[in-house]
Amino acid sequence: MNDKHLTPRARTAIVIGGGVAGPVAALALQKAGIEPRVYEPYAPGTGSRGGPITLASNGQNALAVVGADRAVQETGWSTPRMVISSGTGKVLGAIDDLPGLPPRVTLPRGALVESLQHSAAEQGVPFHFGKRFVDAVDTGHSVIAQFDDHTTAEADVLIGCDGIRSAVRRTIDPAAPEPRYTGLIGFGGYADGSGVPDSGGAWHFIFGRRAFFGYVIQGDRAGWFANLPVKHLDREVLRHTGFEEWMARLRAAFADDAGPALRILDRVTPEEFAPASPLEDVPHVPVWSKGRIALIGDAAHATSPSSGQGASLAAESAVELARCLRDLPVAQAFTAYESGRRARVERIIAAAARTNQSKAAGPIAARIRDAVMPFVMERFMTPEKSAWQYAHTIDWEAVAV
Ligand SMILES: Cc1cc2nc3c(=O)[nH]c(=O)nc-3n(C[C@H](O)[C@H](O)[C@H](O)COP(=O)(O)OP(=O)(O)OC[C@H]3O[C@@H](n4cnc5c(N)ncnc54)[C@H](O)[C@@H]3O)c2cc1C
Repeated sequence: MNDKHLTPRARTAIVIGGGVAGPVAALALQKAGIEPRVYEPYAPGTGSRGGPITLASNGQNALAVVGADRAVQETGWSTPRMVISSGTGKVLGAIDDLPGLPPRVTLPRGALVESLQHSAAEQGVPFHFGKRFVDAVDTGHSVIAQFDDHTTAEADVLIGCDGIRSAVRRTIDPAAPEPRYTGLIGFGGYADGSGVPDSGGAWHFIFGRRAFFGYVIQGDRAGWFANLPVKHLDREVLRHTGFEEWMARLRAAFADDAGPALRILDRVTPEEFAPASPLEDVPHVPVWSKGRIALIGDAAHATSPSSGQGASLAAESAVELARCLRDLPVAQAFTAYESGRRARVERIIAAAARTNQSKAAGPIAARIRDAVMPFVMERFMTPEKSAWQYAHTIDWEAVAV
C-alpha cells in the first residue's frame, strides 16, 4: 500500500490557536473544502489590545485569497512609507511601498486578531473559546486533541497555530528549540495629544543613542513602539517592573535623541501601554509536521518583530497549507507545504536578526551603522530589492504538487 492510501485527503481539521494564523487557516481550509474548528484559550476582547502591528502587502495578498483583507484595511491606517533616522536627527533613508501593491496597514494587534476572527466567524467557522491544547494522539486514521479542561476533539488533521511557545510544536518534537531572546525588550501602544504633526502615512524609525523608537501619527493619535537593549534578561524583574518605572527608563533612554520620542512617551497612559515583552525568534524549527499534525505561523517560523513580517508570514503559510491539503493526501500535502515555505521564512527570520544587532549596537558600532546605512539603504533596501518579501503572492488556483 502506498502512502497515498495510508493518509487520504483531509476532510476535517482542528485548528489550535485563534490569533493570526488560526482564523486565516480556518478560512483557507474551508475554501479548500475542509471543515475547520478553531480552539483558543481566550475569549474575544479579553486580552491586551496590544501595540501597533503592521501588515505588509504580501500579508494582505494572502488575506485577499480568503476575503479577509478588506476588513483589516478598513480597521487600520494606511502607512506606505518608512523613514529611518539616527538619534542625531540625520535621515538615513526612506522606503516606499511598491506601486500596485496594497499599502502597508497599521492597526492594534488586538484589532487585527478580532478582525480575522470576525471574518472567519462570519463565514461560519466554529470557534471554541476557553480551550487550551495540552496534547494530541495520532490514531493512524484520525488525530485526537486533548484540552486542559479534559475535553477532546477529533479530526483528520490538526494544525498548530498556537504561537511562539507552541504546545503543538512540543507534542510533535519534544526536542524542538525554545524561543531565542534577541537582547531587546519591546514596548508599544497608542497615545493621544502629543502635538506631534500627522506623519502623512509614514512610519518613522529612529536608531537612537541607547534604544530604538518607532512612531506614526494620524491626526492627534500616535502609534509607537520602542526596543530597549537589555543584555541579560531577568524574567522575574520584567514581571515585577511597573508602568511608571518602565516609562522612566524609556524617557532616560531617549533623553538625548532628536525626534519626538519624549513628547509621545509623555502622553502614554497605562491603559494604552502594551506590557513589556522580550523580543524573541526561533530561527529554525526542525520538525514542522508529524503524522496528521502540522505547524504554521509563529509555531513553525517565529521571526522577531524587527522584520515587520510575522503576521504576514503566518497568513501566507495558512493559505499555502490549505492549498496543499486541498490537492494532496495529508503526508504529501505537509511535505509540499514545507518545501514551498521553509527557505522564504527562514531568510526573513535571519534578516530580522541582523536588524536586531543594529538596534542593540554599542556607541562605536552605532557610529559605523549611521555612517554606512545611507549607502546600504540606497543600494540594497530599494523597493525593487525587497520585492521578494513584499510582492509575494499566492496562486490559489495552482494545483499543489
Ligand atoms: C511586540 C511585537 C510586535 C510585532 N509587530 C509585528 C508587525 O508589525 N508586523 C508583523 O507582521 N508581525 C509583528 N509581530 C509578530 C506577529 O505578532 C506574529 O508573528 C503573529 O501574531 C503570529 O501569528 P500566530 O497566529 O502564529 O501566533 P499568535 O498571534 O501568537 O497567536 C497564537 C494563538 O494561539 C493561542 N494559544 C497559545 N497556546 C495555546 C494552546 N495551548 N492551545 C490553544 N491555543 C493556544 C494564543 O492564545 C493565540 O491566540 C510582532 C510581535 C511582537 C511580539
